[in-house]
Amino acid sequence: MNANVKRPNIIFIMSDDHAAHAMSCYGSKVNVTPNMDRIANEGMRFDHCFCTNAICTPSRATILTGTYNHVNGVKTLSDRIDGRQITVSKLLQQNGYQTAIVGKWHLGHGGYSDPTGFDYWSVLPGQGSYFDPSFIEMNQTVKTEGYVTDVITDKSIDWIRNRDKDKPFFLMCHHKAPHRPWIPDEKHAHLYEDIDIPEPETFNDDYSNRASAASAAEMRIDRDLTLTDLKVEPPAHLEGAALKSWKYQRYMKDYLRCVASVDDNIGRLLDYLEQEDLAQETIVVYTSDQGFFLGDHGWYDKRFMYEESLRMPFVIRYPKEIPAGSVSNDMVLNVDFAPLFLDYAGITIPESMQGQSFRSIASGQKPVNWRTSMYYRYWMHLSEHKVYAHYGIRTEQFKLIFYYADALNTLGSEDEPKTPEWELFDLKKDPCEMINVYHDPDYERVVALLTRELDRLQQEVGDEKYVPSA
Ligand code: CA
Repeated sequence: MNANVKRPNIIFIMSDDHAAHAMSCYGSKVNVTPNMDRIANEGMRFDHCFCTNAICTPSRATILTGTYNHVNGVKTLSDRIDGRQITVSKLLQQNGYQTAIVGKWHLGHGGYSDPTGFDYWSVLPGQGSYFDPSFIEMNQTVKTEGYVTDVITDKSIDWIRNRDKDKPFFLMCHHKAPHRPWIPDEKHAHLYEDIDIPEPETFNDDYSNRASAASAAEMRIDRDLTLTDLKVEPPAHLEGAALKSWKYQRYMKDYLRCVASVDDNIGRLLDYLEQEDLAQETIVVYTSDQGFFLGDHGWYDKRFMYEESLRMPFVIRYPKEIPAGSVSNDMVLNVDFAPLFLDYAGITIPESMQGQSFRSIASGQKPVNWRTSMYYRYWMHLSEHKVYAHYGIRTEQFKLIFYYADALNTLGSEDEPKTPEWELFDLKKDPCEMINVYHDPDYERVVALLTRELDRLQQEVGDEKYVPSA
């Protein structure tokens, strides 16, 4: 590395469970996210950024390690990270970066699971609290006052302010919001009071024309939201469709109020960078650990390989390299983030990392042979929301999902195998994924091609094909 080249600072802002379709730059008609949009308008928006496993802890492990979950060992919410493996923070730290993580960690505590590769870390224990959150800060418990999104931003700005100005920095600013149970702060508590949030096209999905996994899932707006989620008892006279709509409004308004606070705080951080004259030399990313169902298919939550949960918002600004107001449709994954940051820092990407840097895509040049398909796997068979374990691939036009529906002795799964089933969606004709065409004779050739591609990708990433237990 040429020591004379000034290396960029990197600020990675990640929220929890924020779906792209709740951001105005991704076309949300409901809420406005001016500060997230500001990153996109001054940089690039990725429209096909996907996670390799749509659940918190595994996605976070993938982002840190640049590897898939069967490699980094964090397949489920019950797994903890083994911090002895290579991570992006360690490599940046070893190569002269000052490093910090503030906010949600959710990869376990104690032993080898505390954050490693960070000069400073102040993380929420487990899920953390929305109000007056405690932090585990370099092994000490620290109490704070205020709303979690504000506190995480304050701590992040304080750390930037007090850094050694002779070195570049890497900051992971990880918000807890807008995670369930979606508790907004006082400032945003009355937003959207006077409007009705439109219901999505698939709000009344009856789960016909699909494998049985969709109907078996327990994440329905009308049936599965609890009083803790809703905060107030529904009016006694409501029932059926009217009650479902009422619950949806309660859920979505609180969710979007939490997002509004994240957006305000991103604005505060961006303003601080301007004020300190750091904006030009600092890469700023905003993303979320996976997507979320916002009433789509009648659901809340994530886990499924369906678009709303598979897709991550991803906007990035770096005025020196990334053209303002640009959009990419190339397929990038959470496993690519670590290689991307190492690339920007001029550090050799270790062979063991499985993702690829997409720095050239961000600067407006697509490399030859960029991926046209991606591999996904959700391991937590029947856990919590009763989603069946599955793996699959998404290409530009199709999605093939195999519900192997078996715990395979995986921690955090339930040992109650279901009959394996397949789904195929033609995303061009059926972007909402309502019609499984796996058994349609017109798609016989597509099924054959995609099944081969699934096998190939599975081998490429080193995962194992499902074999029923004897
Ligand atoms: Ca999450």
